[in-house]
Amino acid sequence: MRPEILFPLFAPARSLPGIGPRMEKLVEKLTGPNVVDLLWHLPSGLIDRRERPKISETKDGEIATMEVTIGLHVPARRKGLPYRIHIHDETGEMQLVFFNPRADYLARTFPEGAQRIISGRIDFYQGEPQMTHPDHVVALDEIEKLPLLEATYPLTAGLPQKSVQKAVSGALERVPELVEWQDTGWLAKKAYPSWRDAVLQAHRPQSLADLKPEAPARERLAFDEFLSNQLALGLVRLRMKKLPGREIAGDGHLRKKVVTALPFALTGAQSRALHDIDDDMRSPHRMLRLLQGDVGSGKTVVALLAMLNAVEAGYQAAMMAPTEILARQHYAALEPLCAEAGIKIALLTGRDKGRQRAQILQDAATRELDILVGTHSLFQADVAFHALALAVVDEQHRFGVHQRLELSGKGGKGTDVLVMTATPIPRTLTLTAYGDMEVSKLDEKPPGRKPVDTRAMPLEKLDDVVTAMRRALEAGAQVYWVCPLVEESDEVDAAAAEERYKHLRGIFGDSVALIHGRMKPAEKDAVMMRFEQGDARILVATTVIEVGVNVPNATVMVIEHAERFGLAQLHQLRGRVGRGAEKSTCLLLYASSLGETAAARIRIMRETEDGFRIAEEDLRLRGAGELLGTRQSGLPEFRIADAESQSDLLAAAYDDARMILERDPELETERGKALRTLLYLFERDEAIRYLRSG
Ligand code: ADP
Ligand code: MG
Repeated sequence: MRPEILFPLFAPARSLPGIGPRMEKLVEKLTGPNVVDLLWHLPSGLIDRRERPKISETKDGEIATMEVTIGLHVPARRKGLPYRIHIHDETGEMQLVFFNPRADYLARTFPEGAQRIISGRIDFYQGEPQMTHPDHVVALDEIEKLPLLEATYPLTAGLPQKSVQKAVSGALERVPELVEWQDTGWLAKKAYPSWRDAVLQAHRPQSLADLKPEAPARERLAFDEFLSNQLALGLVRLRMKKLPGREIAGDGHLRKKVVTALPFALTGAQSRALHDIDDDMRSPHRMLRLLQGDVGSGKTVVALLAMLNAVEAGYQAAMMAPTEILARQHYAALEPLCAEAGIKIALLTGRDKGRQRAQILQDAATRELDILVGTHSLFQADVAFHALALAVVDEQHRFGVHQRLELSGKGGKGTDVLVMTATPIPRTLTLTAYGDMEVSKLDEKPPGRKPVDTRAMPLEKLDDVVTAMRRALEAGAQVYWVCPLVEESDEVDAAAAEERYKHLRGIFGDSVALIHGRMKPAEKDAVMMRFEQGDARILVATTVIEVGVNVPNATVMVIEHAERFGLAQLHQLRGRVGRGAEKSTCLLLYASSLGETAAARIRIMRETEDGFRIAEEDLRLRGAGELLGTRQSGLPEFRIADAESQSDLLAAAYDDARMILERDPELETERGKALRTLLYLFERDEAIRYLRSG
């Protein structure tokens, strides 16, 4: 349960002053749904109003705060001309300028003869100073209402700066004093303020230096965020380790059969990864290993051989994929090899119902079944294994830490876990997403792969593309045609794909098929089947085919509006071709008005097929939070911290978390209790569930 002291921060943002139903949506879009989200929305600018010149001392372009006497009002003579108000002080006179003002408002705010303090930007017009639409106007005795240092915030369309400022200052009023969770020696050494002061200071910068990430207040908040992240990962890992593992060592007889049946020899990288896995499985601890390998590096075979190790030792294994298509494809790839080895494998997805499902469940529970492949339906409570020794989780960036654990919990006595990811993750991100998980890398592609010929073309050349496609089709090729990601909405994407589908169908007829996220699973399967079997020659698709799909005969990948995709995504998509013996092509079609980043992405795609290099470049272009697309990444999205530029802070948080958990694994000491509050504050509630008294 979230501690009561944090309740005001987790109230909806609409409870803040100035946020009505209309603003609420915009604020949520900008920062998040709760008051606390506004606290993490730090200012990006500072308006310094401390300059207090007399009229004769004003400078063009400066922000000035001035004490003046109001003179004559000169309303606009006709529409389009400004309304002017003369003002003066003992050194001279100037004018305030208003376009389309409300005259009654001006009359009330600037009564002739009154003294006012005004603040705004000075412009010189025909050699004379003037101020257009002052930002602030107050009476002399209201000077403290005027913010001499005004923080400004990143905005979203439709949301005025003043509304955000007001909402944030409402949020700041709710910031409670919290028991310190950081080591006080460390705080002193770094000259960090307390949490509450850090929040207040971060939102009330006194100079431009205070806006920098290394300003003490901001850096402290970033460190808090890293620490909460590392603690959460540490807690998960601790729990995994506490469950004792089994010592699993197969005798190799099944493996031998499968390896003999394979039409290829394992790469050195595959053998090394298997060696790591065997060592882990043989040890009495439980395995928690990440298998990182670029698209096409051959992770599936490694997973199968690892699973066979478990089966040889008398246990079961499970393999989980993020989508139904992938689960089916894994099953289809593994089934013949399992038949070769004489063991039993089954597929379980959300669509299996009734008697068939019951049968699979019974087989899993009685050890009839050696290997079960499936989607997240494997998490479901009624799936029980007789003796699950190894859980393989494919394309893990679509799953959360929590789900990973849930599956391994199915083993009862400490199931080994092998996580496979096709997205090469730079080291800094590995640390934030996986903590200190062991890593095996498949950094060597199977031999004989031909490089994919990657070309970029403006969209206007669509007709040429169609001509080239016709030639490729006549030569027996199959084509993926990926449609642009229009919005973060399946519906809109689907509509774009449907349109292209109709267009291509008009040219190529029945051999064109369509697949998108809005289709029913059974429809998707049917389409994939047609494409895999070669009945469909062109597959028009949204990014549903991004992950894992394997059709070696497909040698052309067309990506429409390539500039709208992220680098990692483009790389994943391209990885769908170049899987067979034939030479492959990837066509990146771009809109003519290419932005700088988009141009850089396309250039990198043409330069390299090295997934690790691409990931590093992507990180450089986009920043860590976005690297994998936060929506589906399962990676922590940092609000304040930046894993890339603050990697030493991250490393310090990592060390700190380790030390804390070594001394106080249940977070029961005074500091431990304060750290629980930190976890709640950064919404790592999930991790707290792993504590005895969580
Ligand atoms: P990914 O790592 O992307 O999941 P896959 O496991 O799907 O890659 O393998 C891609 C293709 O490479 C498959 O067709 C697979 O049979 C083949 N493959 C795997 N290992 C080797 C190898 N050592 N030599 C040749 N081909 C291999
Ligand atoms: Mg794969």
